[in-house]
Amino acid sequence: MDYGKVIKEIYAEISDVKKEGKVADYIPELSVVDPDKFGITLITSEGRIHSAGDSDERFSIQSISKVFTLSMAFSLLGDKIWDRTGVEPSGSPFNSIVQLEYEKGKPRNPFINAGALVVCDILFSKRADPKNEILGFVRKLAGCGSINYNMKVAESERSAGYRNAALINMMRSYGNIKNPVEKVLDLYYTVCSIELTCTELAKAFLHYTNIRKDFDICGYTLTRSQIRRINALMLCCGLYDESGEFAFEVGLPGKSGVGGGIAAVNPDHYSVAVWSPLINEKGNSVAGMKFLERLTTITDDSIF
Ligand code: GLN
Repeated sequence: MDYGKVIKEIYAEISDVKKEGKVADYIPELSVVDPDKFGITLITSEGRIHSAGDSDERFSIQSISKVFTLSMAFSLLGDKIWDRTGVEPSGSPFNSIVQLEYEKGKPRNPFINAGALVVCDILFSKRADPKNEILGFVRKLAGCGSINYNMKVAESERSAGYRNAALINMMRSYGNIKNPVEKVLDLYYTVCSIELTCTELAKAFLHYTNIRKDFDICGYTLTRSQIRRINALMLCCGLYDESGEFAFEVGLPGKSGVGGGIAAVNPDHYSVAVWSPLINEKGNSVAGMKFLERLTTITDDSIF
């Protein structure tokens, strides 16, 4: 398959499409991003890199970081992690609070905000310096030592973070948050602010395409079975209440963020990262989803 050619073709097709959606403005600092940015990188399992557009510009990966923090917590706790968060799609927006009360403070899955806050609480309990530990892990996964947090974005999110504060306080009232809420929120906002390029993100996700080899990054080990389970969670929950639509149109395990990025994997074949800051009302990149739909349709190859 000539992925380079396919990517260039879709890139040309997409740039003609009138871009719908809007930049995430509930985090003030994200609203200043140039809405016309568009980048894509696909890396084959043999390591061949194919890129187009703004693929080497860093952007706020936001909730895509939830895959990395889950990987660390799953490695540390094993199946005990599922006492703290479920593995079911929520069918609700990523920052919804309604299910939390009915389900006694246990989030539906680790990829909605409530679940990721629990994962941050676990890492806060288990690690003396979780911010540095997470940064080191992501740098190693992506193979780049200059990746960093953007404290301006983290601060901006904190200043408007009433929803996340409500979620964490609700969970704390049920005993599913063990550490001071302000400290866990600080860790969560910092981790969401991490910035990667499409190429760095695709490199990081390449590790999740390899389901024939155990995973060992900075001493965090995951078995092939655990990697497959993370992929299953991405498929069912990675795009929040649009995960069904993404499975239907794209057919790959993936994870989105409100910064407009989507990273996806075709196990044994490739990882791919797209970035376009214009998101729909579900919080997912409009052009990014369209690009991935074209990719799996033209190449006639998804996980199904
Ligand atoms: N930091 C964002 C938030 O908590 C992440 C949400 C997302 O990317 N979907 O709202």
